[in-house]
Formats: sequence, structure tokens, C-alpha cells
Amino acid sequence: MNKVLLISTGGTITMVRDKASGALVPADMDTFKAYMPELFEGPVQVDIQAFSPLLDSSDVNPDCWVRMAQMVYDNYANYDGFVVLHGTDTMSYSASALSFMLEHLAKPVVFTGSQLPVGVLRSDAKENLLTAIEIAAAKDEEGNAIVPEVTIYFEDRLFRANRTTKRNAEHFSAFNSYNYPALAKAGVHITYQPHLVHYSDPLQPLRLHTKFDCNVAVLKLFPGIQQPVVRALLRTRGLKGVVLETFGAGNAPTDKWLYRELKAAVDRGIIIVNKTQCNTGSVEMGLYAVSLNLMKAGVLSGYDITTEALLTKMMLLFGENPDDTRLVSELLGKNLCGEVTID
Ligand code: ASP
Repeated sequence: MNKVLLISTGGTITMVRDKASGALVPADMDTFKAYMPELFEGPVQVDIQAFSPLLDSSDVNPDCWVRMAQMVYDNYANYDGFVVLHGTDTMSYSASALSFMLEHLAKPVVFTGSQLPVGVLRSDAKENLLTAIEIAAAKDEEGNAIVPEVTIYFEDRLFRANRTTKRNAEHFSAFNSYNYPALAKAGVHITYQPHLVHYSDPLQPLRLHTKFDCNVAVLKLFPGIQQPVVRALLRTRGLKGVVLETFGAGNAPTDKWLYRELKAAVDRGIIIVNKTQCNTGSVEMGLYAVSLNLMKAGVLSGYDITTEALLTKMMLLFGENPDDTRLVSELLGKNLCGEVTID
């Protein structure tokens, strides 16, 4: 019997309505298990480890990512795969973070959750969780895991985690992977796309990275953005990295002050990466004249990476390499585990 460890961090899937406030709050795992007897009736042995208390994912932070990754690492030899129950709001951040933390991962780590709590009649919880468990336990004829990556399974799609973004607060298809196809689709059968899967070097043992540096920021450009705002952000004490959210193919206003502020920040050792505000497509600096200034200022291209993947990658690279800015910028320009397309 294949074995899967279910790591529960919380999220709507585990929630009940609080009688006093009327708001949804995380319940406990016993309540959850009572709604999900199927967990222990299927062909896969499921063991559970849970955060206590369970969290709404708005309260999940890098310390929580370390706890999740450590649970995978400590139990790695004893399970065929892992499922992480997590709120949808920040799931793409956590799952992206774990994809970078678990280097040379050779077993599935599938994040899932639901839009409606498990106890609600029309809930998407059971289908999401039971299919995620099946995917985490799935092996090919040679006994190898079919999708040995960190992924998100939601509604009927399996996505590479570090390509995802939460796109919908209402519909059951809460996530999308705009720049990379789904790794599997679930209907009557689960159809895998093995040619799209990222496989780690099987000779390398799993390596856990746990140091994060949160001195990063997102600067979203908009028409009319003012110098004092940009200056205040770029001069934040201790700031190490910035995700610069630009227009279209990576374009920005040509105001001289913007170029000066960005160049001065780069000269102070801050790494700035250009990420388009568009969901689909890639940054192409130099395609339009309005991105030449960014290149001249020393801003790096983020190509087609998501903000979630870029932020978590930056935080981990700064944490793991505190004295080596050059190495951090070199690694930011590389595809580490399928998170970015670099031609
Ligand atoms: N607020 C919830 C959370 O992220 C939403 C959800 O799970 O869908 O924990």
C-alpha cells in the first residue's frame, strides 16, 4: 500500500462558521476527519500531521514554510508522497517557496485546499483532497513517482507550484498557471503529461534550504507614479531586492528621475528584477525604447516568472547567500526548478 503524509496547515477546507461573529475560522483536525471518512477508506494509507492551531493562510509566513518543508524532509524516507492542506489565499507563495527549499526533490508534494469548507454540502474539498492524495501516491510501471515536484492540485488541474497564481476568489478553479501548461488533468481518469514534468537529478539526495531574508519589496508602476514614493521604497533601510512590476513586455515611464532612482539603488547593491504586470507573456527588455533605461540602470529581467515565485526565490537566495550579492543575481537569472522560461 502506498503511503502519503497529509500535512494540514489550515485554510477554508478545514474551517467552520464561528457562531458569534459569523466569520469562517479554522476548526481542528478531529472535526475535519469526521467530515472525511473517505480519507481512511481508499487504496492509499494516509497519515496526518497538523499545525496547531490551524491557520488562515493570510497568517502563513516564512517560519511556516520552514515548518512545512521540515515536515516533508523529516518524513521523506517513510512516505511515497506528501499532500499539504493550505488556504488558497497565499498557497502560491508557500508552494513556490517549498519548490526552492526542497532541492533535488524526487517525490510528489501536492498542495491543495478548497473554496468551500469541507462541511458545506456543495464543497469542493473532497474531490480536491482525494485526487491530490491519488496524485501524490501515483507511480509509473517502474515504481517511480509520476510527478516528483511541488505542485498545486485544484478543481481538475495539476500545476507546477512555482508557475501558479490565485486568480479567482469565487470560482472553484481558483488557480492558473499562465505561462506553463498543466502537468495533469483530472476527469474520469487522471491524464498526466510526463514530458512537462521537471525531474531532479536522481543521484542527488534531497537538500533542505531554510534561511529566508524578508528584506524585499514589490514596486508596482502606474501612470503618474511619483518620485517620493519610489524614492521612499528604494531607500528603505536594509532593502536587498525589489520586484519591479512593469507594463507589457517590461516597459516603464522614461522620466529621468525614475532612471536615476533605480540606478542609484542598483549602485547601492539592491537587486531589482523586472516582472511584467501581465499574467501571460514574458519581459523582453530592449524590445521597446521605453525599457532601455531599465537595462542601463542595471535592472535584471524576470522573463516570465510569477511575482510569487520571484519574491520567494529572492527571499531564499538572500537568506542562503547573505554575503554574496553577485551569486544571488546570477541565480536569479537562472531556471532552478522550472519556475521560469529563459531562451
Ligand atoms: N482565507 C482562506 C485562506 O487562505 C481562503 C481559502 O482557504 O480559500 O486560508
